[in-house]
Amino acid sequence: MKNNKKGKLFVVSGPSGAGKSSLIKDVLRELENFKKSVSVTTRARRAGEIDGEHYYFISIEEFKGLIENDELIEWAAYCGNYYGTLKKTVSENIERGINMILVIDVNGAMQVKKIMKDAYLIFITISDLFQLEKRLRGRQTENIKKIGERLKKAKEELMYEKHYDCIIVNNNYNEALKNLKYVLISKVKGEFNGHTEC
Ligand code: 5GP
Repeated sequence: MKNNKKGKLFVVSGPSGAGKSSLIKDVLRELENFKKSVSVTTRARRAGEIDGEHYYFISIEEFKGLIENDELIEWAAYCGNYYGTLKKTVSENIERGINMILVIDVNGAMQVKKIMKDAYLIFITISDLFQLEKRLRGRQTENIKKIGERLKKAKEELMYEKHYDCIIVNNNYNEALKNLKYVLISKVKGEFNGHTEC
């Protein structure tokens, strides 16, 4: 029998260093029927990143072309680079019944919230800004100037927490992973309502 149920759209944001990427990677290993959308970006590829898996790495001209052709659901500039979500990837998967997770910054998340009313927004944070700074500095994927920019941005992003449906505090990784998994599964089953801090 054909399954006509559409997938659900989740948006995950949070300051750089709060652990979003690791949490999403690990939760996806444990969940069936969920996919992370692969964004386009003009940022330089980091060591170990694979084109088409972590991002589609494109030029600024290509990015502008996608905006002009209305191929992005949302896009934002983040610390000097552009990032965007492809309409086609998201709509095709949702139509096929796959739950999609967009891991995007707060500006992109606010655009999605405006146009896709049933998207569910999750904010991943940590309660200690000092820890956030330590994690960012420990990453060694960015130079000192870039780390400074990301820290400034992280502080700005924390102000958006209130616009999200659910806040997951990642002070303890395993707890946060458990909470994230619970929220995703419950929302798909339609059993979890309300504004919550996990
Ligand atoms: P990074 O450079 O560390 O991979 O990502 C920087 C920020 O851009 C992160 O907050 C990440 O979630 C966000 N980001 C990644 N893809 C997108 C996207 O398609 N749209 C928007 N608005 N932000 C994105």
